[in-house]
Parts: sequence; structure tokens; C-alpha cells
Amino acid sequence: MNNRIINILRQGKPEEKVKIQGWVRTKRELKEFTFIEVSDGSSLANLQVILNQDLPDYNNVIKKLSTGASLAVEGVLVESPAKGQKIELHAQTITIYGECDGKDYPLQKKRHSLEFLRTIAHLRGRTNTLGAVMRVRNACAQAVHQFFQEKGFLWVHTPIITASDCEGAGELFTVTNFNLDNIPRNDQGKTDYTEDFFGKKAYLTVSGQLEAEIMAMSFENVYTFGPTFRAENSNTSRHLAEFWMIEPEMAFCDLEGDQNLAQEFLKYVFKYVLDHCPEDMEFFNLRINNTVLANAENIINNEFARITYTEAINLLEKCDRTFQFPVEWGIDLQSEHERYLAEEYFKKPVIVTNYPKDIKAFYMRLNEDQKTVAAMDILAPNIGEIIGGSQREERYDILESRIKEMNIDPQELWWYLDLRRYGTVPHAGFGLGFERLVQFMTGIDNIRDVIPFPRTPMNAEF
Ligand code: ATP
Ligand code: MG
Ligand code: MG
Ligand code: MG
Repeated sequence: MNNRIINILRQGKPEEKVKIQGWVRTKRELKEFTFIEVSDGSSLANLQVILNQDLPDYNNVIKKLSTGASLAVEGVLVESPAKGQKIELHAQTITIYGECDGKDYPLQKKRHSLEFLRTIAHLRGRTNTLGAVMRVRNACAQAVHQFFQEKGFLWVHTPIITASDCEGAGELFTVTNFNLDNIPRNDQGKTDYTEDFFGKKAYLTVSGQLEAEIMAMSFENVYTFGPTFRAENSNTSRHLAEFWMIEPEMAFCDLEGDQNLAQEFLKYVFKYVLDHCPEDMEFFNLRINNTVLANAENIINNEFARITYTEAINLLEKCDRTFQFPVEWGIDLQSEHERYLAEEYFKKPVIVTNYPKDIKAFYMRLNEDQKTVAAMDILAPNIGEIIGGSQREERYDILESRIKEMNIDPQELWWYLDLRRYGTVPHAGFGLGFERLVQFMTGIDNIRDVIPFPRTPMNAEF
């Protein structure tokens, strides 16, 4: 049988011979024998291993098996008399790969704060919480691909180094081929970064959307799932400088179809994770936030709320809350507004549509009122925005004048405009921050705790 602990715990039968490998989580020495719990990261539950006195070199082996030590155990499964587990492993041979000095080991046998664990990101995967996060994250990623593949979407790989600033928000990291010795300088000796990538401009991508649109104009339905970068000098609990984004783009689709797909997608991913990681989800409900399971059921079973931006502003103006950032038509919704709507007013995700054109990117389709665009944001309880999407402007003349209005040089987007000259079609899409999805699913407050290697201005270890 497969030697991962999760499979042994689920399917192992008494008298089966198995070999496992992993790390000691706890050790309990009794007179006659010793119990150790071993984890290999495959499941929340550890496998209990019993070491008897008759094991070769018993005393020496026991001494070396402190928390954190790595080992292989070969032995026979036996029925467990202990509550809560069916099976345990009777050790016949033990191989120790690496000892672990119990006094030094940062992961002591107690509950550590997530803040502390961030300082030891190289070891925190061995804790229950980060272990559960990484398994749920993996299941989410699997669900993302399965959802789109079942629907016949093509997974497209958009560039990470790109020439376009898709969002126009000035949050770009510049890519350069200079080393410290050959940074070009102007006449005054100041650094001159105007042409950085072998004489051309290049940035780390902030979104694969524009390139995904290109692909949708040949393949109808496509999606991206890859890393994105934003020079966010903000230290909020929902912003990273490097995060993963999922961006479907659909030809022959309008804003309504876009909202429907986003809702169906979120329901699918929640259901998939509940089905595949039930123990981890229960753990989050018990230890992190006691609304995790109710929230998942709520997502799966209910329609999301849908309102326009103008209705959202009316609701916010009428409510009895005072916000730090004053509410009036035309503002970009702040996280306090978004959270009020999702958490307190609707108590479920809410899709807000038709935002003022001045606060949104140039590519969103202009509505007939000439003031708003066919945008949609999905706001989630505890987080705020998790999805931003829109129907794209497919009309050449209007797109060109919007580009000029935003002071972008149409020359830079000649290929984007070209797509509107040669067989343009209505199309729409959205972007979902993968870490925000994992946050939403697990109830974890801080985005730094749902990505293996968080990069923010404060966290730059890796
Ligand atoms: P916010 O208002 O929170 O700054 P945004 O409107 O700037 O987000 P978009 O440009 O709409 O973000 O990007 C699409 C999605 O990508 C967002 O809905 C969010 O889920 C995610 N996202 C954006 N910026 C970040 C970030 N810095 N870290 C993690 N996820 C992000
Ligand atoms: Mg932003
Ligand atoms: Mg936003
Ligand atoms: Mg947005």
C-alpha cells in the first residue's frame, strides 16, 4: 500500500506491514514502551507509533527521537485501543535520518502565534495550522483547474515579464538587466532607469488580463493561473507584493455571464475543498474561526447578493455606521465599506456592478449613461474584494478615446486596439486573488499566513 500517513489512517488494516517516513511530533515515554506521533504532512492527524523494549538498541533510539527528528519506521499495523483513531503502528525497525536538538527547536510542544510562525517560515509547515493551510491551498488549486477544464477552458500562460501596465495603477516593479556596475547615469551622475530591459521597458506583470484577452480572441474561453506582482507599499492583511491570480476570459460573454461564472466557480471550489479536506476544514472551524463551515455551506447553498455601485453607495449613506473614509458617489469603495456590505448588511458575498468610469481601468466597457462602466467586484465577509472583473470595451472608437482620456499612448496598445479592428466580439472576464480565496475559505485573518513564502515590504526573507 501507499506509505503516506493519510492513506494508512484512512485505509490501513490490522496486520498489514508498512513503512512510513516523517518527523516526530510528540514523544511519550512509559516504563515498558514509548509512543511517538509521526507526521509526514499528508494529513492533520498524526500516526501513532509504538516502540517496544525489544526493538534493537531501544534506549539509544528513544533518546535520539525528540520532537522534530526525522525517521523511517517499518512495522505492522495494529488496531488502536485509543479513542479517535482506528489504527497504530507497531515499530519493528527504526532508521533515524536526522536528530533534532529539543532545546533549540523553535517548534516547541505548544500553540505558537501565527506572527511568531511567520519568523520561521522554513519550519512552520510542520505545524497543524500551516499544514492545513497548505493542503487546502493545494486542493483549491486543483479545484480551479478542474472547474475550468471541465468547462473546456484553455489554460494559457501569459508572460511574467511584460511591457504593459494593465491596471494603470502605477504599482509596477521594473525589470532590469543592469548590475550594480553598469547602471546608466545621466550627465549629473544620477541613475537613469528609463530603458531598463536591454534598452526597452519591462515590468513584472500586475495582471495577465490583456494577454488573456488576446488568447480569448482565438480560443473563446481561456484562463490564466500564475504569479502576479504589485509594488504595494501597504501593510494590510490582504495585500502582498507577490501573489497568485486566476483570470478567466470569455469571448461572447457579457457582464451578466461574467457574474454567473464567478458565482458558479466559487461554489464549485468551496464544495471541492469541503469534500477533499474535511478534517482540515473542521480544524479551521474549531481553532481559527468558528464560522468557517457555516460560511462554506452558505456559499455553496445560496445565491450571492447583486447590487449596483449606486445602490451600494445609497446603502452606505443610509446606514447608521460612521466610516473613516466618507461615502459619496464617485469614491472607490474602501475595505471598511466592502466589509460592511458583505459582513453586516448581506451576510454573504455580494456582487457590486457598474462602477464610475473614473475609478476603473481603461478597458472596461462604457455603459450607456456614459458615467459608469460594466465592472463587477465580488466582496466577501471578513476580507472585502476578492474578485474584480468586467465586460471589456470591444468598440474600437470608444476604446481609443478612453485610452487617450487616461493619458495612455495608443501606440503602446496597438495590438490591443488591433483586436477591435479584426473581428471584435463582446467579451468579459475577472481576476481572483488566489490567496484571498484561501483566506476566505480558511478564516485566516492575515494573507501572509496562506502563502508559503509571503513577500511584503516587511517580509522579504526568501
Ligand atoms: P484592492 O482594492 O484590494 O487593492 P485591486 O482592486 O487593486 O484590489 P484588482 O486589480 O482588481 O485588485 O485585482 C484583482 C484581484 O486580485 C483582486 O480582487 C484581489 O483578489 C487580488 N489582489 C489584488 N491586489 C492584491 C495584492 N496586493 N495581494 C493579494 N491579492 C491581490
Ligand atoms: Mg489595489
Ligand atoms: Mg479594489
Ligand atoms: Mg479591483
